[in-house]
Amino acid sequence: MRLGIHVHVRGGYVAAIEHAARIGAQAVQIFSSTPRSYRVAPPDEQALTNFRQLRDDAGIAPTIIHSSYLINLASEDPKIVAGSLRLLQHDLNVAAAGGIRYVNTHLGSYGSRARTEGFSAACTALQRVLEEIPRDVFLLMENSAGAGQLCGGTLEELGRFIHGVDHPQLGVCLDTAHAWAAGYEINSQRGVDDFLYEAAEQIGLDRLHLFHLNDTQVELGANRDRHWHIAEGNIGFAGFRALAARPELKDKTGILETPGDVADDERNMRMIQMIFSGASP
Ligand SMILES: [Zn+2]
Ligand SMILES: [Zn+2]
Repeated sequence: MRLGIHVHVRGGYVAAIEHAARIGAQAVQIFSSTPRSYRVAPPDEQALTNFRQLRDDAGIAPTIIHSSYLINLASEDPKIVAGSLRLLQHDLNVAAAGGIRYVNTHLGSYGSRARTEGFSAACTALQRVLEEIPRDVFLLMENSAGAGQLCGGTLEELGRFIHGVDHPQLGVCLDTAHAWAAGYEINSQRGVDDFLYEAAEQIGLDRLHLFHLNDTQVELGANRDRHWHIAEGNIGFAGFRALAARPELKDKTGILETPGDVADDERNMRMIQMIFSGASP
């Protein structure tokens, strides 16, 4: 797997890419430039040109935009859906302008709606976004921790989105911490093999582009979204080593979204590289 990390661009693109390159990241994820509102500003062309240049000089690829947490494609409120579509379209345009391959999004929540009704509304919203998706950009749906009425907590449901929407630029990102919280016991080779078997059956491995590699301290099936340092939580060394052992994942990308500061990033990056290199601790 190509291994990378989520970086913050508060200090500017230069600092973010330098940080990523210094700790050996091969891929980088950034938050969308969109603030926490449904309003969007036009892409900053100069900043994007800088980002692209720095990233290419550092040999970092692919890059990913993580869209706004406000996005909810299953909401019963048409204003929220319209705002979500605008945010996603904005991120897809920024991605196209910046040579960024993926836009990763959470799907949202069904709220008080019946799941079947929410599901078909979310499919329609995805179809709308994909009608205008720029070439060479993929829209990825991230699995959720499965709490309450959240969409996309199961491989089966993500698969139904993939097949229901049926667009070649729609794919999936699997977050290991969310999968564990949703009840997938991925802390052993057996557990990971079962998980990937089901992912292949329901989604198709060709649609699976990205992993978010996060450990977690929550109990299996707790439905809580809490990220923790690699090999220091309940997925543990064995779970990540089991993912590393699967040859069909070698062309995929894995991004750390682990907590903490620069020193934590460095430690987590070293740990995941060691695990994927097959070396012993
Ligand atoms: Zn994630
Ligand atoms: Zn999370």
